[in-house]
Amino acid sequence: MKLATARDRLVDSLVANEIVTKPSTEAALRAVPRHEFVGDDYREQAYQDRPLPIGNDQTISAPHIVGQMLDLIDVGAGDRVLEIGTGCGYHAAVTAEIVGDDNVYSVEYDAELADAARARLDRLGYDVDIRVGDGRKGWSEQAPFDASYLTCAAAEPPSTVIDQTATDGVVVGPFGTGQQELKRLQPQADGGYDAETVAPVRFVPMR
Ligand code: SAH
Repeated sequence: MKLATARDRLVDSLVANEIVTKPSTEAALRAVPRHEFVGDDYREQAYQDRPLPIGNDQTISAPHIVGQMLDLIDVGAGDRVLEIGTGCGYHAAVTAEIVGDDNVYSVEYDAELADAARARLDRLGYDVDIRVGDGRKGWSEQAPFDASYLTCAAAEPPSTVIDQTATDGVVVGPFGTGQQELKRLQPQADGGYDAETVAPVRFVPMR
């Protein structure tokens, strides 16, 4: 099967199973060539709905997780988004399809992964800003963000990331040690947040 056909079938199933409900998320998943974000050995598996290795002990999230998280952050064209954990850059590219150029700010701990993601996103025509550092600190120079998400699991939601997200925005991510839960947080004016638990998940832990 052609890779583009495999990609469409995968997205068809995410929509049919109501994992992806927003048309903007669906269009973004159809647009991004996930096979370009994995090594040659994994290209043929790129449209199976599962995580795959991307080197340095890290993984690219399964497509259903990326779709679910994009539905949850609920952003549109022109919104500014903070991502913690660039990895191979796939999730950032899907987000960029929705919010547009120069609106995705991604922090990656691992300089090697960051360099590779930067080169790959550039080659594929995505204008995503990537900074090497600890995502717990967010990206103060670019705050506030309309939405933020983490692609690595934190024991607790990092307070700096909550603070850097607008009070009418959302923070989505896997939280907890051992059993993790995907949560959707709404920052409040007093620095706290309201939390909603979405699903049990398994992400790589924050370093
Ligand atoms: N969104 C990515 C998923 C990457 S996996 C993709 O589509 O490929 C999680 C990533 O979080 C890894 O690249 C890991 O290096 C990074 N990470 C782990 N701890 C971090 C931290 N404290 N700050 C920033 N990034 C971190």
